[in-house]
Amino acid sequence: MAFELPPLHYDYAALEPTIDEATMKLHHDKHHQAYVTNLNGAVEKHPELGKKTPEELLADLASVPEDVRATVRNNGGGHVNHTMFWQIMKPNGGGDPSGEIAAQIKADFGGFADFKKLFNETTAKQFGSGWGFLVFKGGKLEIVTKPNQDSPLSDGLYPILGNDVWEHAYYLKYQNRRPEYLAAWWDVVNWDEVNKRFAHAKK
Ligand code: MN
Repeated sequence: MAFELPPLHYDYAALEPTIDEATMKLHHDKHHQAYVTNLNGAVEKHPELGKKTPEELLADLASVPEDVRATVRNNGGGHVNHTMFWQIMKPNGGGDPSGEIAAQIKADFGGFADFKKLFNETTAKQFGSGWGFLVFKGGKLEIVTKPNQDSPLSDGLYPILGNDVWEHAYYLKYQNRRPEYLAAWWDVVNWDEVNKRFAHAKK
């Protein structure tokens, strides 16, 4: 298989009570696995795609053969988005941002509270399934939303952090209360990992 499901680096129950164990199990083992399986299906038809990273595929969708382009966009996006998602969370995470991302958030949004409010409001409004992302564009942080599993990488932008607002990410615990999930999610953010991604985004 060209691409593989990355293991979770913490237990399914480790993000309780913010994200419940049953959601984590389904989300990682079933939903993320399905994106990987479907992406590998596209690679079986066009083996040369397996020589690129999923990030490279998303950054240049025009070069992906047309018969599998939508499959790569949706499932490659699903693979990359979720791989980031597991990494930017951790047990006993949250708190105020640290390091360079903290300074940049202060410079661009006025402070963490204002940033969080804007991110949550913007992402709550994403109609249907999708993601809210933080990207670095023209020397400034910017909040963007994407439908489905679309990635900012396809716009030449590196996602620094992102939250999944597909119903599968929160419905078992939060039902239709997406804003409540968005507000709680900051309690599990791994700011060390976010800082690593910010350093990459600045390159
Ligand atoms: Mn998801």
